[in-house]
Amino acid sequence: MHSFRYISGSLHCEDVSLNTLAKEHGTPLYVYSAGTFRDHFSKLDKALSDLPHEVAYAVKANSNLSILRLLAELGSGFDIVSGGELLRVIKAGGDPAKCTFAGVGKTRAEIEFALQHGIYSLNVESEEEATFIDQIAGEMGVKAPIAFRVNPNVDAKTHKYISTGKSENKFGIDFESIEDAYARAAKLKNVTLKGLQMHIGSQLTTVDPFLEAVEKVAPLAAKLKETYQIEFFSIGGGIGIVYDPALKSGDPAWWESQDPESRPLTPTEYAANVVPVLKPLDLKILLEPGRFIAGNAGVLLTKCLYEKKGAAKTFKIIDSGMHQLIRPALYEGYHEINPVKEPTGETEVVDVVGPICETGDFFCQDREVPSFQPGDVIAMMSAGAYGFTMASTYNTHPLPAEILVDGSESRVVRKRQTLKELISPEEI
Ligand SMILES: *Cc1c(COP(=O)(O)O)cnc(C)c1O
Repeated sequence: MHSFRYISGSLHCEDVSLNTLAKEHGTPLYVYSAGTFRDHFSKLDKALSDLPHEVAYAVKANSNLSILRLLAELGSGFDIVSGGELLRVIKAGGDPAKCTFAGVGKTRAEIEFALQHGIYSLNVESEEEATFIDQIAGEMGVKAPIAFRVNPNVDAKTHKYISTGKSENKFGIDFESIEDAYARAAKLKNVTLKGLQMHIGSQLTTVDPFLEAVEKVAPLAAKLKETYQIEFFSIGGGIGIVYDPALKSGDPAWWESQDPESRPLTPTEYAANVVPVLKPLDLKILLEPGRFIAGNAGVLLTKCLYEKKGAAKTFKIIDSGMHQLIRPALYEGYHEINPVKEPTGETEVVDVVGPICETGDFFCQDREVPSFQPGDVIAMMSAGAYGFTMASTYNTHPLPAEILVDGSESRVVRKRQTLKELISPEEI
């Protein structure tokens, strides 16, 4: 969907000029498109319409309360990875009965909180965790709904830091041991075996690894349904997005012009492959997308402060960095860089870098980008997922503000942090 485009010489989010937003609210500034969130959610929801299913948005991608409210209103479920995320979902009006709780390190307090609120399922990543949950549920006098996360040992063919479905990754229970894990858990008095879960990685750009995993695990799901009457099979998230060229990718004409063999994965293609394997199971199928829904729904606006011409390179120094968008530093993430003022076609080869005292603090190196000058506002495209949620205050920079645009309306959905707020919890 095409929510970021140039209108009358200025980059817009839906009908709102990003230049105007930068002037009004300052930079660095995260800006999200409500229309894009809705569009991406419903594309996935529709793609699975042939199955009993639920889309459970992965909260960690973008957990702003207004975003969660918007998705809750569309009927979304939520995949959470902490008690804090559950609190956000509840505050935003989401339904805990539509929440699944993943993660290898759940604490007692988190498990209690989830059980108190009637969570749909705790997705358990080790037998030790299952035993612990059983004990806590027993003390509380409740039955804990659980699913095991299976590690199918499938190569997601993505960056190794966001690959989660290989045996050497910390996630889930080995495919070879999973049936034994269910057999032992079936003897626990205070848990109900509710489903089976997997998630092989993030930013997958072809359907093959998904299909391989689903084909490998579907027979197991069928067996578990037969033996323990499980009711759901969650196939995880991970559907990748177009980071380059993000601006063009929302244009259906661009999509059509790409080679069908190599163009990025769409929900339709994803569903056409996995649905035939899943349908005969007659289980409720859960999908846990984060990046696909949020990634291209947001940008980070930042201002160019200086241009520094070094002996070897030209550096464009901007007022945001790895502390506010860590993807390039963490896993070589790519962000298209576009000046808010429509480029004339002139380009330069530069490093775009932030203010942080780390050599890894760059958005690109030796990349040809549209020319921009100190004082200009630029947009880091596709920053809606794993952007603000991963931001820190490293080097004592306050967290940026967040804006939600809906048509011609825009709203501050998180105030800019002040320096006073940043240091106030500390004492001398
Ligand atoms: C992070 C995560 C997701 C979402 O991954 P995306 O690549 O953002 O779709 C889904 N399920 C689990 C268990 C996760 O940890």
